[in-house]
Amino acid sequence: MENDYRVGLGHDTHRLVPGTGFLLGGIAISHDRTLYGHSDADVLLHTVTDAVLGAAALGDIGDLFPDTDPVNRGRDSAQMLRTALEEVVRTGWTVVNLDCIVFAQRPKIGPYKDQIRRRIAELLEIAPDRVGIKAKTGEHVGPIGREEAVSCEAIVLLKREIMLAEHR
Ligand SMILES: [Zn+2]
Repeated sequence: MENDYRVGLGHDTHRLVPGTGFLLGGIAISHDRTLYGHSDADVLLHTVTDAVLGAAALGDIGDLFPDTDPVNRGRDSAQMLRTALEEVVRTGWTVVNLDCIVFAQRPKIGPYKDQIRRRIAELLEIAPDRVGIKAKTGEHVGPIGREEAVSCEAIVLLKREIMLAEHR
């Protein structure tokens, strides 16, 4: 037995509009704005979903859940990530670890980081110490800094055991 590894990258942005908070990594964040989107607009879970799918070369979240399909309106992003994980696991991959960055001027994400890590770990069926969450502001410049949007980036590593015979 030998291991095959793949990395995947995810990125997503959602606009901030007036509202009463939003979901980030499956955790409810209280705020004076909300994130706009076709689904529940969980920008971090969308990012992680794309990273996981990308590592296995299985396309992206839009391929699995087109935003032109009314059934995806208000869809639970945790459920989308679970579906993506099932596809990835079906092709023999397991998640080794991931690292994520949340770009938000406000609110402060720090107090939620541990909860978010635990929720993402639970969704991916891995230990919380395999999930890194970092938060950055936009330094008051650009769409992040002007509080017009929240963006995320994530990188994930997948592992698959391969039979040595496959090398021949
Ligand atoms: Zn999104």
